Amino acid sequence: MTLKTLDGVDVAGKRVIVRVDFNVPIENGQIQDDTRIRAALPTLRRLLDGGAALVLISHLGRPKGKVRPEFTLRPVAQRLSELLDRPVAIAGDVIGDDARVKVTAAKPGDVILLENVRFEPGEEKNDDELARALAAFGDLYVNDAFGAAHRAHASTAGIAGYLPAFAGDLMTSEVEALGALTGSPERPFVAILGGAKVSDKIGVIENLLSLVDAILLGGGMANTFLLAEGKAVGDSLVESDFVELASTIIRKAREQDVDLVLPVDVVAAQGLDGQVVTVDADTIPDGWAAYDIGPRTVDRFGEVIGNARTIFWNGPMGVFERSAFANGTLAVAKAVAESGAFTVIGGGDSVSAIEQSGLADKISHISTGGGASLEFIEGRTLPGIAVLQDGGEHS
Ligand code: ADP
Ligand code: MG
Repeated sequence: MTLKTLDGVDVAGKRVIVRVDFNVPIENGQIQDDTRIRAALPTLRRLLDGGAALVLISHLGRPKGKVRPEFTLRPVAQRLSELLDRPVAIAGDVIGDDARVKVTAAKPGDVILLENVRFEPGEEKNDDELARALAAFGDLYVNDAFGAAHRAHASTAGIAGYLPAFAGDLMTSEVEALGALTGSPERPFVAILGGAKVSDKIGVIENLLSLVDAILLGGGMANTFLLAEGKAVGDSLVESDFVELASTIIRKAREQDVDLVLPVDVVAAQGLDGQVVTVDADTIPDGWAAYDIGPRTVDRFGEVIGNARTIFWNGPMGVFERSAFANGTLAVAKAVAESGAFTVIGGGDSVSAIEQSGLADKISHISTGGGASLEFIEGRTLPGIAVLQDGGEHS
């Protein structure tokens, strides 16, 4: 897959629309984590250095097509202005009079942030009129919102039908890193999967079976697989509706020569605040639930990770938010960081876990898109990426 990048594109004197993912956590008007804003800076700086005026589009939360002041992008404009060290004007609307006046007046070096695009009911419907109205604000369209690329919305897909469309630097690096996994990864290629539920990750597991040499399963989802193997899992989180699917996956793994490794021991407790014990994964007593992988499992996983040349990790190995159940996730983070392999981590909680471990800078690529990175690994075509491909419209 080849994206149309910004390399060699002359943006001097042009008005460039950039779809960014500024969907940051905000509490009482205070931004809790500005990672996503920072992630867009290279593209924005590059365009500004090239002499463009910028019209930025983002969503924030789920206002569901209504103007809801609690979802305003105002705090984001302020933070972006600090980070770029230049004024950022926020429009009072998305495609209304205020936006039009501000965009029309924009000169090279100016930055206008439109108000939350999901205030417009047409955004999530990929409404053609909205796409056209947004496109009228610029000469070029750049999409750097990888985190929203799995949605076919007016600002991520429709708009690209009306302007020359390019991938921003963040989008390009995401597609390169994730594309290396689904393309021709160096082997052994090991996937580490965890998190709460199997049901969230079925498509990911199934597609990975045809890509990887080994899958290490931990976290809550491992319990359903243990149950499928006939093990006693006590009161651990299981999805009974998915036990059969887990059996099928175990069988397919065997058929396709994928080494599917389940926990051999777990850290269990009687409720999250109860006394903690380490037990074999097949003897979790009734009333007890597995909340983390145990030390022998960490060693087994560590061996496989140590031999890997490519690693994809999604989903914590346990309830890592609690220190009593964070060891497995932190130990796996350490093993991944020290593996020397090409390493990619995706998923909201997995990314928090690696940041919490202090090892984030030892990871080859940390994806900014939770849902989008998983859909990419599922092998699906992401609508926000499809419109940026070479050979697409306006190429
Ligand atoms: P990501 O956001 O990285 O895709 P998920 O959202 O799928 O990850 O899973 C993260 C959640 O899974 C965390 O809140 C964690 O507490 C929970 N979790 C992990 N292991 C267990 C377990 N054994 N029992 C219950 N919940 C678990
Ligand atoms: Mg999550």
